[in-house]
Amino acid sequence: MGKIRTVLGDIEPEKLGFTYPHEHLWCSPPASQPDRDLELTTYEASLYELKLFKSVGGGTVVDGSPLDYGRDGRMLKQLAIDSGVNVLGLTGFNKHVYYPDWVQVVPIDFLVERMVKDITVGMDGSDAKAGLIKGGSWYNLVHPLERKTTIALARASLETGAPIWLHTEAGTMGMEMLDIIENEGVDLETVVVGHSDRNADPRYHLQMLERGAYIEFDGPGKVKYYPDSVRVDLVRNVIDHGFADKLMISGDMGRKSYLEGYGGGPGFRFIKQIFVPRLIEEGIPEDVVHKIFHDNPAAWLGKF
Ligand SMILES: [Zn+2]
Repeated sequence: MGKIRTVLGDIEPEKLGFTYPHEHLWCSPPASQPDRDLELTTYEASLYELKLFKSVGGGTVVDGSPLDYGRDGRMLKQLAIDSGVNVLGLTGFNKHVYYPDWVQVVPIDFLVERMVKDITVGMDGSDAKAGLIKGGSWYNLVHPLERKTTIALARASLETGAPIWLHTEAGTMGMEMLDIIENEGVDLETVVVGHSDRNADPRYHLQMLERGAYIEFDGPGKVKYYPDSVRVDLVRNVIDHGFADKLMISGDMGRKSYLEGYGGGPGFRFIKQIFVPRLIEEGIPEDVVHKIFHDNPAAWLGKF
């Protein structure tokens, strides 16, 4: 296992601690998104949330905001300094509806170079380097522009070693995105398929795991989709089939209305204080929980 690239520099994997692999600390989606609940740009509010996370034993947060989503490397750096929490930033793109117009016209090599620069030099004019790359797809469709950025991210990953995290819309198209990345020669052991629990289909999860990819559940507490009892069963399915080393869990609480710091809930404390004890109460072994929140993120991110 190599080092992990945080916004304050590379660290040893043992320093990670309890980790959320997909959250949002600072972001401002483009104007094409009318729902401004997704905009998190109040410094004191984001810092407060991170401090709450630290107060319950949290160690590391990966910010899931790519370069088309109002990311700011300087802010991520300051949040890491002021909170004492390890913060990772990422490069790459979200789903096509957020892309700036230039993505359509530039050659793939340009996209690769842009990502490599974020990983090796720094993001947004700062020296905060990206520690991973994000790609995304649409609902039941990989849009041609998403195919383009996904090919680019695979090449940037091969060039830098950076691990990959995938946004899937309602948990669809995970297999198809893995096909594109695998076709470029990337080892799927470096890839996390995010939002996999939005598609609460146990067989689909096993199909991706059997290809060597990680899957991530990031909906605990989002009862608007379905109750957490379903997520507990999905976790059990993964464990019972021998894939405890391949599961990660986060909250993806990328809305003001989800974060205590912005006056919402359940916030960053929820998984650590409510969902984890529930998993243990319902029979998920403590060593498996430790893998999910410590060892698996460390193995996935430790590529530098
Ligand atoms: Zn997200």
